[in-house]
Amino acid sequence: MTLISGTAVAEKVLEECRRDIAALAALGRKPGLAVVLIGDDPASRAYVRSKDKKCRDLGLHSVKLELPATTTQDELLAHVRALNNDPAIHGILVQSPPPKHIDEAAIVRAIDPAKDVDGFHPVNVAKLALEDPTGFVPCTPLGCQRLLIDAGIETNGAHAVIVGRSMIVGKPMALLLMAKGKGGDATVTVTHSRTRDLASITRTADIIIAAIGRPHFIRAEHVKDGAVVIDVGINRIDDLTSEKGYKLVGDVAFDEVAPKCRAITPVPGGVGPMTIAMLMANTIKACR
Ligand code: NDP
Repeated sequence: MTLISGTAVAEKVLEECRRDIAALAALGRKPGLAVVLIGDDPASRAYVRSKDKKCRDLGLHSVKLELPATTTQDELLAHVRALNNDPAIHGILVQSPPPKHIDEAAIVRAIDPAKDVDGFHPVNVAKLALEDPTGFVPCTPLGCQRLLIDAGIETNGAHAVIVGRSMIVGKPMALLLMAKGKGGDATVTVTHSRTRDLASITRTADIIIAAIGRPHFIRAEHVKDGAVVIDVGINRIDDLTSEKGYKLVGDVAFDEVAPKCRAITPVPGGVGPMTIAMLMANTIKACR
């Protein structure tokens, strides 16, 4: 069994980013990312902090806009428009989820598609479906695909089963894996909460992408011998032995699934670090 280290592959992606940033600096250009946070959800705050820190570590221009939970839809739209018009900003990301009174879809649509480094704008969703390389692909599935490529996992002709159909992970993952070319050409099955007899389907998979949001949901019975498993899940579960009182686990019951696998990602240290690395890569692409 091979443990696919997202930490190691993410470091490789960041090294490529450093090279690209140096090349852009030689042309007098510096990629800039603006991350907008509304409210004070602790998990969102932590994500925004780590994105800002990674930008600064790489020498990107980073703007962190922290707005109160009382920010109105119109005020937020005005901030997005200002960032759309700011030539020093190439990527804009509005941290999800916003407070309930905010219409998230309308905010995403207000972002200039050329600065939509999250890849959630309808123009970029369409470009992914059309296999148009000028679009932005959501960072998490893009990171999963890069993990498969770097680990030497052949997707061409493989049966990939995706568990989860969200717009952030499952759906774009399916489009990437079924696209023509490197890291694609797979036969893709997308499953979700209404799928009947999930295990009978996942057991036919050469590659399983688990993006469900339920701790340890994928068990040994879901996986055939020799499968490759990419665990996207990040779930907090109680852990009295840890200082924080909780620990992070994936959607896959790692201990019982790993021995059956040809390769598997851990949580933490798997898909998580790739998401942020691909965000940096998308911001550089936007600047270019
Ligand atoms: P969503 O809640 O948006 O989607 C979950 C999907 O899982 C849905 O399509 C849902 O089906 C499906 N599902 C739920 N229960 C079952 C079930 N019993 N059987 C089969 N399918 C089921 O979550 P996200 O896609 O946003 O995230 C998924 C996980 O990935 C979470 O743990 C999240 O924290 C993590 N994540 C990690 C990232 C990273 O950087 N590593 C980035 C983004 C997410 P239905 O559509 O029918 O409801």
